[in-house]
Amino acid sequence: MKVAIIGAGLAGLYCAYELERLGIRPVIFEKNSFIGEPFSHVTAVVDITHRPIKDFVKHLKDEMDIDIKPHNLLTKIVHNGPNIATTLKGDFGYLFKYSKDDDSLKHQVYYKLKKTEINFNIVGDYETLSKKYDYVVVADGTPHAAKELGCWQQWLKTHVRGATVHGDFDPTSLVMWINKDYTKNGYVYLTPFDSRKASMVVITSDVNEREIDRYWELFLYTENIKYTIVEEFKLEHISGYVYPRINDNLIFIGNSAGGVEPFLGFGHVNAATMAYSAARYIAKGISFEKQIKVIMDRNLEMREFRKAFNMLTNKNYDMLIASLRLPLAKQLLYDTNINISKYGGWILKKLMKENMRL
Ligand SMILES: Cc1cc2nc3c(=O)[nH]c(=O)nc-3n(C[C@H](O)[C@H](O)[C@H](O)COP(=O)(O)OP(=O)(O)OC[C@H]3O[C@@H](n4cnc5c(N)ncnc54)[C@H](O)[C@@H]3O)c2cc1C
Repeated sequence: MKVAIIGAGLAGLYCAYELERLGIRPVIFEKNSFIGEPFSHVTAVVDITHRPIKDFVKHLKDEMDIDIKPHNLLTKIVHNGPNIATTLKGDFGYLFKYSKDDDSLKHQVYYKLKKTEINFNIVGDYETLSKKYDYVVVADGTPHAAKELGCWQQWLKTHVRGATVHGDFDPTSLVMWINKDYTKNGYVYLTPFDSRKASMVVITSDVNEREIDRYWELFLYTENIKYTIVEEFKLEHISGYVYPRINDNLIFIGNSAGGVEPFLGFGHVNAATMAYSAARYIAKGISFEKQIKVIMDRNLEMREFRKAFNMLTNKNYDMLIASLRLPLAKQLLYDTNINISKYGGWILKKLMKENMRL
């Protein structure tokens, strides 16, 4: 069977790996000359956002028999509100390195491929490829093809401004800030590469390209951030919904299939799930939709959660962050397997109604 994959991002690479396991030799078309990201950063997989999956690295091993080494364990989350901060410690998930370096996450998957042909510096055109291959997996990280085919519904556009910074960090921590003044409907996060270097990123929606610079400056000023900035990047993130996700012999996965969840902008777990599900659909005919139902439902729930979260004020943010200090709240949020995306939006809306009544 002839299978082409457009894009050697995480989704494309995981899909190739699973296809190989199932006896298929795919061909990848990658527009860049390299594997990895043009800029370095550290991403997180936080277990609570991907329930019922408890441990993502173990999940990948169980599902695909692949050994992925995280850059670090995530054992501390600092939640900074406008006036209150709460630090929680525990086994929260993992940190992964995205870069052009050999130890980046994408390289780990890339080096495990044994039979896949990768064509670098080639822009994959889904129309041409769909005539030459039995299946074409669209994993280019953009809504381009889905838009052209009329199966893309845009949910939100976020602007991202980030940097690599030098300072003193706890390498197993994630630091988050929420403050309407400089994050609007978004957040700022800091994820360390090591004890001296970290990624610091402002993500916000409902702003234009110029406003993101103002939010960035306001964040640095308000929080009195004095880290040395060594490398900066800016990008646009689009999140949305693709349906149908199979169009003749085209299968959409990862960000191209609306795989980025609309609350925090996380896409790693969804990309992996869609990737191995697409491979099993191609090789064994197992329904793609049935395999990815859990994650697509979760994306819809996360959208509701985001809408409810956007209604909160700075006072509400402080209340929420203060409530994390309560042993019961911490236990419910991080120590049980409760579905946060499903019930979180409902709880927040109730809270807002109560607030309005007061
Ligand atoms: C700054 C930032 C921070 C993030 N943080 C997190 C996080 O903390 N946790 C998390 O879970 N997720 C995070 N994400 C999202 C996550 O990285 C992605 O959802 C995930 O990597 C899946 O991406 P993908 O493979 O679908 O697309 P991509 O990684 O974008 O890969 C697409 C690939 O296709 C190639 N390509 C594009 N067009 C073509 C074409 N026409 N022909 C051939 N090749 C093409 C590109 O060069 C690229 O290699 C973050 C993303 C960014 C940008």
